[in-house]
Amino acid sequence: MERYLKRKERVEIDINNLPSDPGLRLPIWSYDVNDRDKIRRCYLLKGPHQPRSHHFPQTLYGNIARRFNPKWFDEYSDWLEYSVQKDAIFCLYCYLFKPQEQIIKGQGGGDSFVGEGFKNWKKKEKLLCHIGDHNSIHNKARQKCEDLMKKQEHSLPALWLSKDDKNKKEYRIMLTAVIDCVRFLLRQGLSFRGHDESSNSDNRGNYLELFDFLANHNEEIKTVTSAYASSNLKLTSPKVQKEICIAASAETLRYIMKDIGSSYFSIIVDESRDVSTKEQLAIAVRYVDKLGQVIERFIGIKHVTSTNAVTLKAAIEDILAKHSLRIQMIRGQGYDGASNMRGEFHGLKALILNDNPQAFYVHCFAHQLQLCLVAVAKNHWQVKHLFEFTSLEFTFPRDC
Ligand SMILES: [Zn+2]
Repeated sequence: MERYLKRKERVEIDINNLPSDPGLRLPIWSYDVNDRDKIRRCYLLKGPHQPRSHHFPQTLYGNIARRFNPKWFDEYSDWLEYSVQKDAIFCLYCYLFKPQEQIIKGQGGGDSFVGEGFKNWKKKEKLLCHIGDHNSIHNKARQKCEDLMKKQEHSLPALWLSKDDKNKKEYRIMLTAVIDCVRFLLRQGLSFRGHDESSNSDNRGNYLELFDFLANHNEEIKTVTSAYASSNLKLTSPKVQKEICIAASAETLRYIMKDIGSSYFSIIVDESRDVSTKEQLAIAVRYVDKLGQVIERFIGIKHVTSTNAVTLKAAIEDILAKHSLRIQMIRGQGYDGASNMRGEFHGLKALILNDNPQAFYVHCFAHQLQLCLVAVAKNHWQVKHLFEFTSLEFTFPRDC
């Protein structure tokens, strides 16, 4: 956190990977001031984090055990959030808009619905106290949230309506062309950016080259792009490319979730490191669609700070919660049980079985096949020799 705050340069925020769990979020004021409203809108659109299917742990008060009651979500559905990581409750409105100095001083009804969270389960009345009167900090924060969402609702349609018909038509032509380019590259799994995207580069990368190709084969697109060539409205910036990719991903996931509906599903999880050695967790679901066919779909990737079972489970819960999928609907779980991850995945399996005893474990067949092939190969000296030789060839220094 300190490191983050001391940085002078603006760090690009990945809006899709903001932590859902309120106990893991950075304070809103630690983000760059130009990013805060974007982050606030994102959290407001997602709504409060309410993992209803979580197995809420008990806390002992003398001889009496108490725990968080998920029915409180119904009572305070618009702001109450629960952190699985901290076993504590938080307020979404106050997280987004409670002034920084009041959080530090602990003002606002003497509660702790921002920061460390509230976890005194025998004092439910504190939730009502937290809301307070119409002039309370909580209600002021709620009003600011509503104003922020209204501002966006009004600004976009107003901007669009202020354009004349010719402008609207041209904008549609450009937008359709760039969406077509993005769809093509995503479908083919091709990279977007080039090493040199300047106007005199021989190869400006797949996206810009494809856009030029499309314009050169369609008079309408060519006319519009030439007309806007010297303006800011080219729709070719990396930011626009990224936003359209995010929209495509959201639409695809929406379709997948609609297809799953309220059916049972299985999860297949694997972890690996990316080129910057960040640990990533990839999760896919398998389900039977309305036509009775088995469908397998990749639904997300998430950075994890460590690979212990608790962190992996929290990451899975986060992805499932994001898509309103419940752990109770899982009927199968499959992991790589052969690698150095065996211990962690074994722990993860047990944690999920704790929440849902019907989430039967099946060893990932792809990994099982790999194990089988390695075992067979090791017993045939010609094959073993071939792989050893190939490996030596591959790793042998070129200058020797
Ligand atoms: Zn509040």
